[in-house]
Amino acid sequence: MKTTLATLALTFMLTASFALGHGGVELGPQGGRILEFSKNESMHGEVTVKDGKFHIAVLDKDMKPVALADQSLTATGGTRQKPEKLTVEKTDTGFVLPAVEPGQWLIVQFKENAKAKAITARMEYDTSTCEACDAAEWVCKCTQNKEKTKDAKAGK
Ligand SMILES: [Zn+2]
Repeated sequence: MKTTLATLALTFMLTASFALGHGGVELGPQGGRILEFSKNESMHGEVTVKDGKFHIAVLDKDMKPVALADQSLTATGGTRQKPEKLTVEKTDTGFVLPAVEPGQWLIVQFKENAKAKAITARMEYDTSTCEACDAAEWVCKCTQNKEKTKDAKAGK
């Protein structure tokens, strides 16, 4: 019984630290949402919205823009019941695609070149406003200490 509890506690701790490292929203230099485009943090996508379209800039490990050459991206929106392939347009610095409906998920598959393995990244396009920071939830990074921020705001 003791062993089981210890194992459970350890499992929980590992899960918690995993959630902490990967659960928070990371924002890029343009204030957009960062998606992981690699397994080792060497490539990122920064999603911003302009005129009803998602603009996805490709950034390197230092969050510096990468000039596009052989990279490719496919995107899916819609709902789980009815996924929709999105038309992706390639520009010099990234990809442009129609924004999904608020509340839907955007799922993208990024390939660094034709031979590379596709990396899948996803985000929920939650456009409701975060009470703590007034940013839309999909670009809000205060999830981890939301209560703290709320208190600070109420106090001023
Ligand atoms: Zn927030």
